[in-house]
Parts: sequence; structure tokens; C-alpha cells
Amino acid sequence: MEEKKQTIKFYSHGACQEVTGSKHFLDVDGEIIQIDSGMFQGRRQESYEKNRDLSFSPADVKTIILTHGHFDHSGSLPIMVKNGFTGNIYSTPATRDITNIIMMDSAHIQSKDYEYLQKKKKKRPERNLTIYEPLYDTEDVLQTLQHFVGMNYHRPFFPITGAEAEFYDAGHILGSAMVHLKLQNGMQVGFTGDLGRNGLPILRDPEHLPDLDYLVMEGTYGNRLHDSMGIAELELAKIVNKAVSQHGKIIIPAFTIERTQELIYILHLLTKNKQIPKIPIFIDSPMAVNATSVFRVHPECFDKETYEDFLAHHEDPFGFDNIRYVNSVKESKEINMVSGPSIIISASGMAETGRILHHLKNNIEDHNTIIAVVGFMAAHTLGRRLVEKVKNIKIFGKEYKVNAEVKTLNAFSAHADYNEISEWVSKMNLDKLKKIFLVHGEKDALDSLQGKLLKLGVKEVEVVKCGEKYTL
Ligand SMILES: [Zn+2]
Repeated sequence: MEEKKQTIKFYSHGACQEVTGSKHFLDVDGEIIQIDSGMFQGRRQESYEKNRDLSFSPADVKTIILTHGHFDHSGSLPIMVKNGFTGNIYSTPATRDITNIIMMDSAHIQSKDYEYLQKKKKKRPERNLTIYEPLYDTEDVLQTLQHFVGMNYHRPFFPITGAEAEFYDAGHILGSAMVHLKLQNGMQVGFTGDLGRNGLPILRDPEHLPDLDYLVMEGTYGNRLHDSMGIAELELAKIVNKAVSQHGKIIIPAFTIERTQELIYILHLLTKNKQIPKIPIFIDSPMAVNATSVFRVHPECFDKETYEDFLAHHEDPFGFDNIRYVNSVKESKEINMVSGPSIIISASGMAETGRILHHLKNNIEDHNTIIAVVGFMAAHTLGRRLVEKVKNIKIFGKEYKVNAEVKTLNAFSAHADYNEISEWVSKMNLDKLKKIFLVHGEKDALDSLQGKLLKLGVKEVEVVKCGEKYTL
């Protein structure tokens, strides 16, 4: 591209000093590229309104580039399309497939919730219940899918006339990408999306971006450290062997995309290497079953180890003798009849809804049960209460004693911690880098990360404020 003078502004309308609703913008001479279009999550009324009443006009956005399929990055794409966005949505092919599952699931939940609340309102009109109209339905999701353009890693593309873009592997979830933009005036801008970690199962380690002038970076764990993945494998093996020796069950509440497949992958390896005995493993979630099929058709996203351990011998990393994928409710109920040790992986990840509740209810009072916590449990969820080791919990209105042992495995995180972020940044050309913009993190995490990056020698680090326009 021939160099030319351009006016460039960066701003965000989501994930500013919080971790949901990712929406970042680069205005290049009036042409707007949007990076991610995530849903806000949290307090119901507030996030519903923030998702419905966008603080910008989708019709003004020329192109969307999607870093990965997580709901807080992709969930509001149908709202964009419903409100006048007509451009392309660029993502890796795997991200497109994961986003399809995520958006369809959200449309389904929204319509179910709506029906439920309407019924409740009819029964008890005096309670003045708030009804949340669905923000989109499956028809809108289908419309949105028509806008996708799949781009593999390292295939340059042109989101607008004045910019060339390229995806780099972010090592966060299947298909996740960082975005590198080269503008016509020679300026180079990078977006990390969510930054993954070295050594995650299945995925390649995060790549490094070329020399940049500006970097927009996430800081979810800007003030936290994780254990390494190697420790997670050892701990998981220990838990399984303990449960086997006491003839107990292992219950794992897990997110259906990525975490579940990582668990399957590790359990497969541990079984193959005879570090754990062959016991029945149930994947009890229709969405997890669908997501696993997406993993199977995207081997281009796998790391070398997955290739060498499985693909090179024509083995399926997600299929082996003792694993069973459970779709129907009838089969799900039958799991309860299986005697002896077994592993049950089910959703929801924070144990708030879904089939996991039935498995917890059936096994939580048994002293031989082990509940393994492998994800972040938000405040006020059943998962969090289990982590906090409360003595009694309520499921479906009935009280149960928590006799089961609850084990938290800290290593299962898909986000880099502050040491990993600092190490990743330290490999950049800091002489050229003018500034880092921090997004996607609670205020404490970002403030703390800002200090660490400045100490590392980054010239300027800004914690981004929503709606504020920064001239580059
Ligand atoms: Zn993510």
C-alpha cells in the first residue's frame, strides 16, 4: 500500500473497566472497523438495557472483525444486524462455527425465558414482573451468519480500503485470534482479543504480533497468577485415582466450549498413559456434544502435540472406549443408575442451571463424591458457594448437606495472568510501541497491570474509558 496521511481514532463502547460487552472501534478517515460485538452480562435489568440500547449506530460501522466465539465478544452480532449493520463479519472459520452455536443457544434461552416470564405474569399479575423481550431470535441469527467471511490465520484481508488485516493465533479458545492492522499511513495497530496461555491443551501457544505503534490489550487477570497446566493434569489424575479408590463419583461443572474439550483431551491422555484407570466418563450436555463436533472439524487449529499424540495415528482426541456423549434426557437420567466410580462433566459451568444440578443433587450428600471446580465461579452462583465450602446448599428448592469433597483446580484458565501478559509484552519492540490501551478487565486488575507494564518499559499505558475518543 502506498503511504498516505490518515486521521485515526480509537474508542470502545464495551469492556471498559469491566469484562463483558467487548466492542472496540477504529475510525480511519471516517470508515469504521469494529472489533468484536459482545453481550454485556451481569445484573439483569442493567445489562439487558445496555445490550438493547446501543450507544452508537450499527449502520455507521463498515466492517466487523471478530476475535473469537465467546458470548462476551460475539453475542450481540445479531443486534448489530437487526439495527442496520450491512457489512462483512471477518473471523476464522472455527470462530464462525463456535459463534453459530453461541448465538443459537442465546436466541433459544431468550425465547424460553420470555415464555416463562409471560406465563408467570399471567398467573400472578399483582407481582408486576418485568418482561424481557428477546433481543433476537433464531431468524436473526441466520441473517447474521450470512455476513460471515471466514479467514484463516495469516491470510491478509482488507476490512476497509485504507487498511490491511491479518489474524494471529491468540491461543485462548479454538479459532481465537489477535488482529494485526496495517494502515495506509504505515501505522500498525494490534488487538489481542482475549490473550491465551502457553501450554493449554489442544491449542497452539499465543503468537507474537509484528512491531506495533499501538496495542489494545485485555487485562482480565492483570492482578492474578495461575498454576501451570502441567499441575492441572497431575491434580486431575490425583482426584480421579482418589475417587476410584473410594468408589466415588467425580462431578465437574464445566463450560461447554473449550473447557469441556480440554478436560476430555486430558482425561484421554491420562487414560492412554495409564495414569488413571479406564472408568466411564459422561459428557452430559447437548451443547457440549455440538461444540465437540466443531472441534473435530477444525484440526487446523490444533497444536503439534495434539497432532503427534492423536491425529498422526488416526486417533480422535475426543473419542475413546470409555467416553459417552449424552444427548437425551432419558440417557442423562440413566447416568444416575451407573454404580461404581465414574466422571460426569456437565453444564452450566457455574452450576446455576442445567443438568449439572441433577447430578449434584444426586451425589452431593455422598462422602465419596468429589466435585472438581475447573472454572471461574462468579459471585452469587451455586458454584461459588461450593468453592466457599458452605455446609448446606439448596437445589430446586430443597436443602442438601455438602458431604462431597470440593477441589478447586486453579490452572484451568484460558486467560494469561499478569506474568504471562508481561512476558508476552516484553517480547515486543518497545522502542516503536507508542502506547498500550487496556480493556476487558475490572478496574483493579487494569490499574495493577498498568503499573506492571510501565515498569517493563512501555512508554504509555491508558485504561480505556467508554465512549472516549483517542486520536492515534
Ligand atoms: Zn474469551
